[in-house]
Amino acid sequence: MKPLNDIPLSPSFRLAEFACPCCKTVKIQPELLQKLQQLRDGWGEPVIITSGYRCFDHNAEVGGVEGSDHTRGRAADIAVAAVWQPKVIALAQTVGFGKILPYPRRNFIHLAL
Ligand SMILES: [Zn+2]
Ligand SMILES: [Zn+2]
Repeated sequence: MKPLNDIPLSPSFRLAEFACPCCKTVKIQPELLQKLQQLRDGWGEPVIITSGYRCFDHNAEVGGVEGSDHTRGRAADIAVAAVWQPKVIALAQTVGFGKILPYPRRNFIHLAL
């Protein structure tokens, strides 16, 4: 049997990549997926999601702010080496993400609608 949520959502992303790590629950706004795919196509490199949907408990566990966009299917963190972040941020702006928070020391970028 295939793993839970192992279902393609777009050319580059699968549902499981957005699922909460503790309970495998998943919520995703279609526009988030659409923008991530546009970013991936513009960048030309695989986009690794390090945090997608978070249930209430998981969000608290990782120290996310209450009502975080991750708990509403409106945000994803993607792995990007610090050196590539300026390029990916510029692309994310072009694609139209509403919130772009770079974490260069931790090699990821938070992207939200
Ligand atoms: Zn969970
Ligand atoms: Zn985030």
